Amino acid sequence: MSEAGTWTRHENGWVQLRVPLPFSLKWVNSYVLPDGAGYSVVDPGLRSADAEACWEAALGALGIGWRDVTGIVLTHHHPDHYGLSGWMQERTGASVYLSAEARVYAEKLWGEGETFSDELIAAFRSYGLPEKLVPAMQAHLEGVKAQVNPPPREVRLVEAGAPLAFGGASWTPIAGEGHAPGHLSYYDEARGLLLCGDQVLPDITPNIGWMPDADPDPLGAFLDSLEALRPLEVARAYPGHRDPFDRFGERVEAIVAHHERRLRRMAELAAEAGEPLSAFEMCERLFGARLQGNAHNLRFAMAETIAHLVRLERSGRVERVEESADGAVRQAVGKPLIRFRPSEDMRQAVGTKADGTTA
Ligand SMILES: [Zn+2]
Repeated sequence: MSEAGTWTRHENGWVQLRVPLPFSLKWVNSYVLPDGAGYSVVDPGLRSADAEACWEAALGALGIGWRDVTGIVLTHHHPDHYGLSGWMQERTGASVYLSAEARVYAEKLWGEGETFSDELIAAFRSYGLPEKLVPAMQAHLEGVKAQVNPPPREVRLVEAGAPLAFGGASWTPIAGEGHAPGHLSYYDEARGLLLCGDQVLPDITPNIGWMPDADPDPLGAFLDSLEALRPLEVARAYPGHRDPFDRFGERVEAIVAHHERRLRRMAELAAEAGEPLSAFEMCERLFGARLQGNAHNLRFAMAETIAHLVRLERSGRVERVEESADGAVRQAVGKPLIRFRPSEDMRQAVGTKADGTTA
């Protein structure tokens, strides 16, 4: 049974270390790849006392010294992957490799004087987040900062398509959008190996990462990115969460089908509601009211819901309704409240009027 804090040595000599996470995902996979002269680490994990202890114990047991680590390769900037990179760089002196876009977002989200947290809260308010849940969301966003500290001092930028040598192989970085801007998967065509980060996961679907002032349609970009990954000949995929898997193409198809089902379900919910729904109201209908007690999960559920509503809007299935300060029944602070209703075409298709009553 796989558990956070444990590790597995695979036949190819790689060590998969399950670095513990303080939320329901339980662990992130770090891969330790022998390099000949030393080791490269892919995605070291999130900064926490548990994660640090996990690394100390694992490297001790494996007989690997900090100075044997010669490279730290990142798939994306999310805290559970990037968070420990600065801490690990301090111990190893190794370079940290990531995409230019990932570096921009790491700085934007947690750099000094960041304004992202306020912008995200403002956007969530306009998408219907109730005021009573704002303090917990603010505390959650503030709490993440300790999990990504310190930032790496020296980074080397990786470009999609430009081969990168580490772990005794030449890897082609492949851009993927929708989960995180600038996400890179690393493909070793000769052996059919893919370090897929969070772009494709087994058992669970990658969160679709909607953010203000970023790609407005991340689900569209995510589905396009999967189309680019689908034809790769992957003998074994090494994901950021859960365990390595094969049948990569089937997994990609299952994830596409999941989003199609969710889009259909949301279009139905919008039609059944009888009045325009905010993203928050839609989110509760999809994921249940229990989300209110967990700001971390609520944040990702909101992002997921907004991303799907935008996709439904862009494909002509729902339309947004903005209520201004005058006459607004429920008013988001300082901004119009955005809600969604079935589009004119959809209403005609099912014979429903704009107010939700059936013709
Ligand atoms: Zn992750």
